[in-house]
Amino acid sequence: MKPFLYIRPKNLKEAIDAVSFHPQASFIAGGTNLLDLMKRGLAFPEKLVDINHLPLKKIEQKRGILRIGALALNSDVARHKLVNDQHPLLVQAINEGASGQLRNMATTGGNLLQQTRCPYFYDTAFPCNRRQPGSGCSAVNGINRHHAIFGVDEGDPDQSCIAVHSSDMSVALVALDAEIVIAGQNGERKVPLTGLYRAPGNRPNLSANLDKGELITAVEIPDSRYGKNVHYLKVRDRASYAFALVSAAVALDMRGNSISSASISLGGVAYMPWRLPTVEKFLTGQPANDALFKQAADMSVAGARPFKHNAYKVKLVRNVIYESLKTAAGIA
Ligand SMILES: Cc1cc2nc3c(=O)[nH]c(=O)nc-3n(C[C@H](O)[C@H](O)[C@H](O)COP(=O)(O)OP(=O)(O)OC[C@H]3O[C@@H](n4cnc5c(N)ncnc54)[C@H](O)[C@@H]3O)c2cc1C
Ligand code: SF4
Repeated sequence: MKPFLYIRPKNLKEAIDAVSFHPQASFIAGGTNLLDLMKRGLAFPEKLVDINHLPLKKIEQKRGILRIGALALNSDVARHKLVNDQHPLLVQAINEGASGQLRNMATTGGNLLQQTRCPYFYDTAFPCNRRQPGSGCSAVNGINRHHAIFGVDEGDPDQSCIAVHSSDMSVALVALDAEIVIAGQNGERKVPLTGLYRAPGNRPNLSANLDKGELITAVEIPDSRYGKNVHYLKVRDRASYAFALVSAAVALDMRGNSISSASISLGGVAYMPWRLPTVEKFLTGQPANDALFKQAADMSVAGARPFKHNAYKVKLVRNVIYESLKTAAGIA
C-alpha cells in the first residue's frame, strides 16, 4: 500500500474542504471497500479524510420522512425500530448484504458508493476502462456471467463498461423513492438516489454524480404506503457473503386484493438499481393474482441485452420478479 496522510476533521466543513482542495484526497467511512482497493493498488489516495466521528449517525423521523445519517452502520439501520416498523423492505435488503461483521462496519453512505465487483477491474493484467479509461473492456468479450443486461447500450463499447452496481440496500432504497442529501462547497442539495449513479458512457471511471469534495450526509425515505406488502429477493451463488446475480425489491400498495400502486427495482443487472416503470404501471389498479404476476414477469425483461455468459439472467429476472410479487402480495 502506498503511504498516505490521515486526518480527522473536526467538522463537516473541514472534511469537505480537505477533499475539495486536495487532488488526491478521499473520504473514508467504514473502510470495508476503500481499504481493500488501496491494499490491491486500485485506489491510492494521498490523503484519507476520516469522517467517522462526524455527527451523521442519527436515524430519525420528521414530518413523515425517515432520515438515516450517512454514517449509520448497516447493522444499526437494520435493527432500528423506526426502520423495521416503516420500511421492512430496507431491513430485508440490508440483511441480505455481505456478512454480520461487514454490516457492523459498513456505513450507509459508503454502501451506496461501493466500487464494482467486476473481476477484471481487480485484475490489473487485464484492460479495464473503469480502472484505466480508454484501455478497453475485458468483460464484453470475456467471462461476463456477472455483468449487466440493462443499460448497456450507452457509450462506445471500446470505452464503456458493462459492470453492475453491487449494493443491496440501494435496490430497496430506489424502490422506496429515497433521496440523498449531499453537502459540498455550494451548500446542501437533495437528489433522488437514482440521480447519484452515472451511466458509464465513455467515462466509466466516474460512477457517481458527485463533485469533488461532496459528501453524502443522509438518506431520506418518504412516508411508506406499502406496509408489509414488500419483498426483497436476492439470488446468488452462495447463501451468504456473495453479491447478487439478480435481486428484486418489490413494494405493493394494496387495497384489499387490488394493487393501488407498485414499485419495483432490480439489482445485479445494471450500473445502478434498475426501476421497472412499465411493469409498475401495468400492475396499477389490477387485482393481485398469479396470472397477472406471470405477465408482469414476462414484461420485466423487455429491453434486456444479454452477453455471451449472462443470458441466464433474463430467465432469472423473470423468476425473481414473479416470486417476489407473489410474496409481497401475500399469495405465495
Ligand atoms: C467480502 C465482502 C462482501 C460484500 N458483500 C456485499 C453484499 O452482498 N451486498 C452489499 O450491498 N455490499 C456488500 N459488500 C460491500 C460492503 O457492504 C461495502 O464495502 C460497504 O457498504 C462500504 O461501506 P464503508 O462505510 O465501509 O465504505 P468505505 O469503504 O469507507 O467507502 C467506500 C467509498 O465511499 C466513499 N464514501 C464513504 N462514505 C461517504 C460519504 N458519506 N460521502 C461521500 N463519499 C463517501 C469513500 O470515499 C469510498 O470511495 C461486501 C464487501 C465485502 C468486503
Ligand atoms: S465491465 Fe467495466 S469494470 Fe469490468 S472490465 Fe469492463 S470496463 Fe472494467
